[in-house]
Amino acid sequence: MAFELQFFGATERVTGSLYVLTAGPSKIVLECGLVQGMADEEARNRESFPFSAEEIDAVVISHSHIDHSGRVPLLAKQGYTGPIYTHDASKALCQIMLPDSGYLNEKEAEWENKKRRRNGKSRVLPLYTREDAEACIEQFEALEYESPTEIAPGLTLTLFDAGHILGASIVKLEYEEKGQTRTLVFSGDLGYRDAPLMDPTTRLEHADAVLMESTYGDRDHRPISETIEELGSVFESARAARGNILIPAFTVGRTQDLLYLMAEHYEAWGLSNWDIFLDSPMGISATKVYSRFRNLFKAQLFEPKSDYPELPNLYATRSVEESMAINKVESGAIIIAGSGMCTGGRIKHHLKNNIWRPQCHLVIVGYQAAGTLGRRLVDGADEIKLWGDSYRVRAQLHTIGGLSAHGDQKDLMDWYSSFKGRPPVYLVHGEERGQKPLLEKLKKDLKAPAHIARYQQKIVI
Ligand SMILES: [Zn+2]
Repeated sequence: MAFELQFFGATERVTGSLYVLTAGPSKIVLECGLVQGMADEEARNRESFPFSAEEIDAVVISHSHIDHSGRVPLLAKQGYTGPIYTHDASKALCQIMLPDSGYLNEKEAEWENKKRRRNGKSRVLPLYTREDAEACIEQFEALEYESPTEIAPGLTLTLFDAGHILGASIVKLEYEEKGQTRTLVFSGDLGYRDAPLMDPTTRLEHADAVLMESTYGDRDHRPISETIEELGSVFESARAARGNILIPAFTVGRTQDLLYLMAEHYEAWGLSNWDIFLDSPMGISATKVYSRFRNLFKAQLFEPKSDYPELPNLYATRSVEESMAINKVESGAIIIAGSGMCTGGRIKHHLKNNIWRPQCHLVIVGYQAAGTLGRRLVDGADEIKLWGDSYRVRAQLHTIGGLSAHGDQKDLMDWYSSFKGRPPVYLVHGEERGQKPLLEKLKKDLKAPAHIARYQQKIVI
């Protein structure tokens, strides 16, 4: 029987997830993510898919993060008209994130074309547009956790809570042919056991082959209690300095974790002394989706009739006018805004107004990729450029490392150890730095037949 998988993305890297599954006569695309990073890497998004859109019978997406879902509109644009299976909450988040990704593509192409016009070069088209992204949402088939669904003849899909972000799923695919069943389990992105909001990762016992992420395969995160203490001391020292606090935050996941932690530690962190601004239209929309699906995570502190955790001094500023009004606040504002790596969004305006003021604080709570403004700040830049003007960096910078949405080495080892009989495990979604130590540990401690998945490698399940 033919039940095979081939790796086409997120092999020895963390973005651009793409796997193709053959189940008898059917062909399934598992994950269809965008490659993210430096320009030369991102150029790979424009390469054609290693299959034609017409030969695909179904698409399965583990969660809404763009590195897992971001090429779905492109696949649809190229003629794929079939179903796209994902969790109900992931569909709701994709409805926000994919059109935003389309909008960014349009902006990027516009900017590139301005440059090209000056050099007499031909125009480029956006990878896909906002409209393309909005159109493909109709193909999404929303599923619940733990409800098996036949997605192709003999092939059953079941999603389980991965505990990573809202809607994030572990994907189980069972293929039955001639009375025999073979099972593939893909971890998707797994959550951190100390995550403030998400429920624990589901453990499974049976698989004939496992695909496991390995983002933090080389390290253990610090305990959440230390992070909570650290954040508390930042708020205390910032209050004494009488400035503002800027927190660049990813709109899905990190923003909601922060709001929730603020509600939980409202008294201890002295937050009644501040006005808290959620200055991010995407962050506001994503928080509303979290609120709608509050039965899926630890939502005790979400107010019953509100979309937000209990914070009496929280202002969700959606309009440009409301956002601009924050510019006049010189002290006492905590501003949560995107983008998470300071590469765009409203945070840049707030940096312009605050980064040169020694009484202000910048709190970094997420990963900052090489080449981004956020990374330059973390690396200790004395001066930054915003829209062509230079600004001295005088604000105090704090890097809080303990708020990861990904499991650490201990979580990954624990999750795999639940499988009986030690099925072969293929490491995906990780860089060499994280994969090698995890591979060694899996082999040494658990005697697991572990492998690092290679580009275009084919496995029989
Ligand atoms: Zn993710």
